[in-house]
This record gives sequence, C-alpha cells and structure tokens, in this order.
Amino acid sequence: ARELESAKNSPALEEEHRQVTKGKVRTRFPPEPNGYLHIGHAKSMHMNFHLAFEKLGVPEDMRETVFRYDDTNPEAESQEYIDSLREDVEWLGWTPAQTTFTSDYFDQLYDLAVRLIRADKAYVCHQTGEQISKSRSIAKEKAVNPHFEGDPNSPWRDRPIEESLRLFEDMRLGKFKENEATLRMKMDMSSPNFNMYDQVAYRIKFIPHPHAGDTWVVYPTYDFTHCIIDSLEHIDYSICTLEFETRRESYYWVLEALDLYRPKVYEFSRLNITYTVLSKRKLLKLVKAKWVAGWDDPRMPTIKGLRRRGYTADILNAFCKDIGVTRNENIIQYERLQHWARTILNETAKRAMGVQDPILVTISNLEEPVKLESPDFPFAPERGSHSIVLTPKIYIDASDFREDDSKDYFGLAPGKSAILKYAFPVCVNEVLYNDTGDVVELKVTADKDGSSPKPKGAITWVSAVPDNVVSAEFRLYNHLFTVECPGVDTWEAELNPLSLEVKAQGLIDTSVLTVNGQLPSVFTTFQLERVGYFTVDPDTTSAKLVLNRVVTLKESSVK
Ligand code: ATP
Ligand code: MG
Ligand code: MG
Repeated sequence: ARELESAKNSPALEEEHRQVTKGKVRTRFPPEPNGYLHIGHAKSMHMNFHLAFEKLGVPEDMRETVFRYDDTNPEAESQEYIDSLREDVEWLGWTPAQTTFTSDYFDQLYDLAVRLIRADKAYVCHQTGEQISKSRSIAKEKAVNPHFEGDPNSPWRDRPIEESLRLFEDMRLGKFKENEATLRMKMDMSSPNFNMYDQVAYRIKFIPHPHAGDTWVVYPTYDFTHCIIDSLEHIDYSICTLEFETRRESYYWVLEALDLYRPKVYEFSRLNITYTVLSKRKLLKLVKAKWVAGWDDPRMPTIKGLRRRGYTADILNAFCKDIGVTRNENIIQYERLQHWARTILNETAKRAMGVQDPILVTISNLEEPVKLESPDFPFAPERGSHSIVLTPKIYIDASDFREDDSKDYFGLAPGKSAILKYAFPVCVNEVLYNDTGDVVELKVTADKDGSSPKPKGAITWVSAVPDNVVSAEFRLYNHLFTVECPGVDTWEAELNPLSLEVKAQGLIDTSVLTVNGQLPSVFTTFQLERVGYFTVDPDTTSAKLVLNRVVTLKESSVK
C-alpha cells in the first residue's frame, strides 16, 4: 500500500480534530442517491468500513464510518434511491457510526460560500456552460504554451466583492433564471491541472430536493461540497477512486481558502468486472430501456440484483476481501465472483434433485415405490439427510439421454446403462416418440441386485408421482454482455440477447419444501445436484415456484 499523503493542519486545527473525534479514526462512505448501489460500491464499503482500519492497525472499538448521502443533484436523486442505499448498506452487514446528508449542511455551505466571496476567492459569473468550457480550453493551451493567444479568465472574475455578495444573494432568492449565473471559485487559471480552472461552486436549479424539500433554488457542486463535508464531519481518511486524484488539488484549495481542517485523501482503483458494467448511469439506462426487469433484475451487478440472483452478503464480502485494494487499474474476471459463490454455497446450500427439461422414464421391473435417503451435504453426512421416493415412473433431464451414444458420454442412450443417483443402474430398452419425432418416454429395466457391470455415469431424477415433486420455473442466467469489456460507445450493442433462458416445465423433489409442506421462502438457496445453485425468486407465488440459477456447479459449463 502506498503511504497516505498527509494533509498539513495547524496545531490548533489538529487539536480541535482530536477533541471532536476523541482519538477515534473516521472514514466515510458517500454515495449519491442517484441510483442503486452496485458491487463496486461493495468494494468501497468493504474498504471504508473494514479494510482501511485493518491496514492502519486501528482497533475495532476505535473505528467510525460515516454513511453520507452525497445529495447535491436533486434532478437525479429520489427517495426510492435514498431508501435502497440504506437497505443495501445494512444488508451487507455494515453499521455506520452515523448517517448524514450533505443537504443537511446546505445552510452552513451557503455561509461558507459567502465567506469565500468575502475573502475574494469566489465571484458570481454569467458565462454560459459553453463559454466556460471555451475559456478552460484556452487556459489548458496556455499552460503548455505561454504564447498561446486568448484570455482564459471570465470577464466577471474581478468584479467587486460587494457586487458578488449581492448577486449571490439574488441567486438564492430566485432572481436569476437557471444558467444566468453561477458562483465560481477564484482558483488558478494558469495551473496545468484542469480541475483548478475556477470551478463552479453553486448553480441555480428550480428543482425541489428529495431530502431538503423546496427551500433552495441554488445547489452546491460536488467540488465545493465534498471536501467541506469531509472536514466538517472530521473524517480522518477520505478514500475515493483513482479518477478523483486530479481533484485532490482543488479539494485542498477549498479547505485552505476557508481555513478548515484537512482530512487525508487516499485513492484506490475502481472495481471493474468482465461481462458487466459498473456505472449507475449505464445501469439506469438498462432499467429505463427495459433491457432488464428493474434495478434488482438478477442479471444486474447491483447489490439488489446480486441478492436476488442468490449471492449473499458473505459471498460479496469474501470476494471484496479476495480482490483487496490496489492502485492498479484492472479488470477482475467474473469467474472470481462465481468462485466465491460456489465456495460458500457448497457449505450452506442443501442438496436436492430436479430436472429442467423432463423426459418420462418407466422402470419396467419396478412394481413398488422405494423410499431412499439422500444426504443434505454429501461431504458431511452428519449434517442430515432427506427422503426421496423412487417410483416406477420417474423423470430425468433431457440432457441425460442421447440417441447417438459416444465413448466420452456417460448418460443414457439406447441399450446403455447409467446409475440413478442414490438408487441402482437402469438400462434403456425402448425409446418412444411422438408424431413429430420427439422423444417422449424411455422404457428401462433396473439392475436392482447389481449383477451387470457397473456403469460409469450417475444421473439425477425425480419421481413422476405428483406428490413427490414440486413444479418449478427455472430461470437460467448468462452474461449480460457478449464481450468481456463492453466498449465505451458500443456497450449497448454488446448486450447479450440470450442472457435469460426460462425453463417453465421444471420439477424438483419435495425436500425443498418447509417442514409444514410450504414452498421455501424467498432467497432460500439449494444445490440442484449435478447442475448448479438455485435460489427462490420473489416472483414465486403459492401456485408457482420460481428458481434463479445463481451459478453452475463447474466453471467449464459457465456461459
Ligand atoms: P457511478 O459511476 O457508478 O455512479 P460514483 O462514483 O459516481 O459511481 P457514488 O455513489 O458517488 O458513485 O460512489 C460512492 C462511493 O463508491 C465513492 O467513494 C466511489 O468512489 C465508490 N465507488 C463507486 N463505484 C465504484 C467502483 N466501481 N469501484 C470502487 N468504488 C466505487
Ligand atoms: Mg459520485
Ligand atoms: Mg457517477
């Protein structure tokens, strides 16, 4: 890990900081409520609630993490997002020392902006957005070529302090239209750093705020606000992703200009994962365009989507711990996330048998049902077992029968045997077809006493007697994108049209039911033997069990 850059504070500010924090070490997690949290945020939370303290050697009782709603853009924010963020933080198991809203500081922020004007470090500007970009390009050119022609400064940069004070007040009172005036900070137009070109501190928006109501028509920007709130909340370590590194200079400029306590800023790399996108803007687009069923669609990399897919908080946190934090921009393989799902679910998900595409099988020499016991966890028989019933008519999965046999194939084929898991081998004697030539039934004979050579393959099955099975719709998910790294401009064209496959006629054994015979509760996860892990979807009704595939059992079968 790189040394944290120390921010220089006067002894008086250091002393004040110690008095406020009482020696505890503070970090913060500051999402904007403009969408749902995704797995990138899980990495940030893991860092801010846990890993940063571990790295710093802070004892558990000395740790404090502030969960802050960074809510300065009312047009993009909503109560729905505010609520979902809080739920996700809790669900992941994090307990904030305090939950705050940037908008609760709007009065203080306004006063600080006035102080900045009084110190001749901010001015009311009437340049349009376009004019501002133009002057910034001039400043950028001039930074590399001092002979470059043109004036980068706003014509209002040197207006009298009193005038700016009056006009800023007018902005607050709604006397200007949107885009007619902004408050800009008098930073450094000759800097090589683009982020020092007189950033906007306040802009006018005639939009009510989801948390602050309709009190304000001027709203502070991220650049003016973020450092100030970090400071007012006495954050020790302000940890953000690397793209903010160039904004570090302006972060300290504001705090120095206002003589406020300066937290230490530390950057780490953003999480990127193959076959998905981690940007709220893009995820919102998928929701709006109805590419997915909502923010919690099981294909989404959101916390809510992953949860509905069957990922648990333990899985996501184990993944975050595994990838750690670095300053190298890299892309994590999606398989790494799946690895943690398999590792943890193997220990927690009871086994059951089921079929996705049933084919009827009649065991000609079986007259009576046979009751069998099957372990909940085959690697730990002491953890219990459940009973299953083998009946003369059963279903197997269509993928376990082939008309054309081959050497490396161990399922059933005409004249070929396979073991019915937890029972005995059967051999196919006859294949029945319907009018259109599809296989509709197999007639097999059981080798009940094991007299013939033992077949290599074992297949799963369920009883065909309705009392012994539950109908289920299996939803099989594949990658949301067809390429590992969706392109900046091409990502929408790279969406996978086959990311959801539905098997509506599935069956699963009754061991998945509760002791009272009820359908299992939402988010209960099973291992469907030989197939994968499945979790109960909230679309489940008393009439229909809906199961989401979390992950297949083996990586090789991942699509
Ligand atoms: P997005 O582009 O998804 O909207 P953001 O950075 O604008 O991301 P915020 O809600 O402002 O989203 O982020 C809250 C915190 O989470 C920030 O500190 C941010 O750095 C961090 N964060 C966001 N995305 C990632 C990611 N992919 N990897 C790691 N941290 C992230
Ligand atoms: Mg942000
Ligand atoms: Mg963003």
